[in-house]
Amino acid sequence: MKIFNNLIAAILPHFPHFLVRPFAKPYVAGETLTEAIKHAKELNQSGYKVTLDILGEHVQTIAEADLICKAYCALLEDINSERLDSTISFKLTHVGLELNQKAAIANTLTITEKAKSLDIPVTIDMENSPYTDATINIYQRAHSKFNKVGMVLQAYLIRSLEDLKTLDATNFHLRICKGIYREAADIALQNREEIRTNFINLTQTLLNGHGFAAIATHDKVLIDALTEWIEDNKIPKNRFEFQVLHGVPMGDRLERLLARGYTIRIYMPFGSAWFDYAVRRLKENPDLAGYIIGNLFKRKTSKG
Ligand SMILES: Cc1cc2nc3c(=O)[nH]c(=O)nc-3n(C[C@H](O)[C@H](O)[C@H](O)COP(=O)(O)OP(=O)(O)OC[C@H]3O[C@@H](n4cnc5c(N)ncnc54)[C@H](O)[C@@H]3O)c2cc1C
Repeated sequence: MKIFNNLIAAILPHFPHFLVRPFAKPYVAGETLTEAIKHAKELNQSGYKVTLDILGEHVQTIAEADLICKAYCALLEDINSERLDSTISFKLTHVGLELNQKAAIANTLTITEKAKSLDIPVTIDMENSPYTDATINIYQRAHSKFNKVGMVLQAYLIRSLEDLKTLDATNFHLRICKGIYREAADIALQNREEIRTNFINLTQTLLNGHGFAAIATHDKVLIDALTEWIEDNKIPKNRFEFQVLHGVPMGDRLERLLARGYTIRIYMPFGSAWFDYAVRRLKENPDLAGYIIGNLFKRKTSKG
């Protein structure tokens, strides 16, 4: 399977867009803002909260980073005027972190100020380990201006538990995920069960502490283990939510969680950069090719 996934990940970037589109489409909430907003409204009407993310990362110029900052400010205006139940998520390399830290800070603070003026929460996504320290630092600066700015920790990183303990506070809004990048064994757990155990540990530590946990996973074993622990420990429903990526098949699990009164937020990436996004994700983690093909197959069989 690994060889097959590596092969797909290597050849997909050379395919024309129309051939890659079916692979990327289920995961993208729309190529335009209008499509994304329409879709977000439908999800809101079905009881889901959403977080909107403009596709892209690692911009090449500061001018591009500044445009992305403006696009996020416009998105915040639209979320407000359309009365969407939506937060925003963004990546620091999309607003210039790889090029110039000062520019990324300035853009983050501009987005934060706009979000604060409209009272819309923000999550700063976590990228790969060269950016972990900078992301935490910039998060702290933004959070000091608006306490509805949240961040992400990855369960595969060995440092995450210490980071969580250092950052935990009443207004600490933390998304916990496994981590999507390939990281070296000296800094990251590689074993699936160990990553799961750390995910549970991080979530329990946070919920035994002060912060809010956004439990971001499609792993039903994890979801079951955590809902059982949450119920046994009578953790109030306003201390956590579940989050999933748009388009990942979950059977009837999300409807069942909603029916039990849990909050579910769907991460909705949208925009024209879907091709680069799909290709980059595949290069970083060829195992995604297996997911995508498996999920396309599941969709076909569940329709048929
Ligand atoms: C809301 C949200 C936000 C995230 N933000 C970040 C972030 O800021 N930084 C970061 O490093 N990672 C982020 N991730 C990705 C995360 O780290 C994992 O890589 C991803 O969620 C897969 O792990 P899993 O917990 O779902 O478990 P897995 O065991 O990997 O997956 C469980 C099952 O879900 C399905 N599945 C999982 N992921 C996908 C996918 N992408 N496409 C298709 N099917 C899939 C597969 O069928 C798989 O068998 C985010 C994930 C979510 C849900």
